[in-house]
Amino acid sequence: MGYSKEAERQNKALESILRGGTPEKRVMVGYNADKGEDKNGKTIESHLTKIMQEARMPWFCPECDKVMKHRLDDKMWRLFGQCFDCQIKEENKLITSLDLFARLSCMALHQTYYKMVG
Ligand SMILES: [Zn+2]
Repeated sequence: MGYSKEAERQNKALESILRGGTPEKRVMVGYNADKGEDKNGKTIESHLTKIMQEARMPWFCPECDKVMKHRLDDKMWRLFGQCFDCQIKEENKLITSLDLFARLSCMALHQTYYKMVG
């Protein structure tokens, strides 16, 4: 009898612990939190989309003050924040600092890349 009383108490304690934590509720909270994250993710995404939409090409390149009007300027501006000429200059600088093998593979990549974006 003493044993069953003890067992009953343990059961009650366990029950109250379980009720305190309420596993079902915890699952619900976890579920809700996940939902919130999804919502936040979407908010951030739409926020970024808005920024992207607002990031229009300025009249002048911030690097060389040249008027940016070329289609490639627009593409380079979106990708690198400067005009096509500046990007080429910068990349040439980078390329000339590389060793021959890296330079060749980089130039091959370049050609593929500009075929893609151009
Ligand atoms: Zn420029």
